Amino acid sequence: MSFITADELKASYDVIVVGSGAGGGQAAYTLTMAGVKVLMVEAGRNYDPVKETPMFQIDSQAPLRAAPTPDKPLGFYDSTVDGGWVVPGEPFTNASTETGREFTWWRARMLGGRTNHWGRISLRSGPYDFKPHSRDGLGMDWPIGYEDVAPYYDKVEMLVGVYGSNESLENTPNSSPGVLLPPPKARAGELLTQQRAKKLGMPVIPIHRAVLSVKQDADTLPAKLHPNNPRAQRILAEAMRARAACFWATSCGRGCSIKANYQSPTVHLPPSHATGNLYILTNAMVREFTMYDRGKATGIAIIYKPTGTESRWSANTSWTPWAERSVARFRCWKTFRSTMRTARAAITSMYRGGSTASSTPGNWISRAATTSSLAPAATCRAWAPPPVSNRSRVATTAGSSRRTHAAITARL
Ligand SMILES: Cc1cc2nc3c(=O)[nH]c(=O)nc-3n(C[C@H](O)[C@H](O)[C@H](O)COP(=O)(O)OP(=O)(O)OC[C@H]3O[C@@H](n4cnc5c(N)ncnc54)[C@H](O)[C@@H]3O)c2cc1C
Repeated sequence: MSFITADELKASYDVIVVGSGAGGGQAAYTLTMAGVKVLMVEAGRNYDPVKETPMFQIDSQAPLRAAPTPDKPLGFYDSTVDGGWVVPGEPFTNASTETGREFTWWRARMLGGRTNHWGRISLRSGPYDFKPHSRDGLGMDWPIGYEDVAPYYDKVEMLVGVYGSNESLENTPNSSPGVLLPPPKARAGELLTQQRAKKLGMPVIPIHRAVLSVKQDADTLPAKLHPNNPRAQRILAEAMRARAACFWATSCGRGCSIKANYQSPTVHLPPSHATGNLYILTNAMVREFTMYDRGKATGIAIIYKPTGTESRWSANTSWTPWAERSVARFRCWKTFRSTMRTARAAITSMYRGGSTASSTPGNWISRAATTSSLAPAATCRAWAPPPVSNRSRVATTAGSSRRTHAAITARL
């Protein structure tokens, strides 16, 4: 990959992307494949899951038998090599200390951010989630609807590889035909639960997860994703062929050295790098966005951690995909998780057991988690990102470079 140091920074890039997680990885992928020169600035260190993932070590090989410690709250083998609930030097305040109302936020400081250890549960927001206020008077409507983003959900699912089934359940959109990979076969416990839950009127279906249940179809998917870009097709086909299918033996939270699950450093960054358009500066904390008088970003001020020096850089466009929108998604996931707990009172969700993978999220899951009867607030209604005014602070496009922006948009 094209890793650079602060000394090697150039005067200007087409786009600066801050952060290398789910948002930053996708942004860099889309832009570099379209021929845009991107500088990616990442606060954490470089991280290579292929070399650094201890996929086959067992708990007894780890200190304290891999039990959680203050330094590694998610256990010794968790792939978050730097960061966590508390990040030294990055204080975090909580609006409420009341039990149940405090909000903690896991912050991974490493290449790929939280995509290295996330649960890989990949659910779409449904039509209700985009228009909560119109539906029940709560929250705020998005300025766009589900149908606006549906084609992009399809693209991302094809790109990263998501398995699951289309069940046509309420507010649980289907993917387009041919997009999802086949779900793994249900295990005995899942079949039993499915059978019993049926009597209670609860569907038990495969979860959607960003894990390759089979190898991706590198012969046809690249053309669907980059119809007019043969070079991008070639690069993506090669990247897809370098990924193996999952063998269902180890925990995804450790990371994946065979690239079977989605992590930004194994899925988004290698093809971006292969375009020759991506420059990654790790260990560089963006301290400030420089703004021009209309409140739009013109560039960034960074602290380069190895030397402690500050410098300022500009680009035609700068983008912070990890900001408010990620909070919304994260809270949405937390809501989902707490709803899962509620749902478990009625029905047990599935967890894959096994010698080293007892905490790996299950392949199958009770739909009870999101049915309105059990959990009317199970959707992300309360967490819907604010409409236009705030969101425009997140994806910032320097007004002085409208022409460049138009050119980029045209190339995309
Ligand atoms: C334990 C856990 C399990 C999860 N499981 C799921 C799941 O199953 N399904 C699901 O949909 N979601 C899940 N999530 C949430 C999901 O991981 C996040 O929503 C998603 O990764 C967010 O992507 P992002 O790009 O916004 O942020 P991140 O992936 O966190 O990336 C942000 C990056 O920006 C960098 N950065 C931050 N500030 C700066 C700065 N000032 N300068 C430079 N770089 C900076 C960080 O170091 C980081 O690398 C889970 C989260 C956790 C913690």
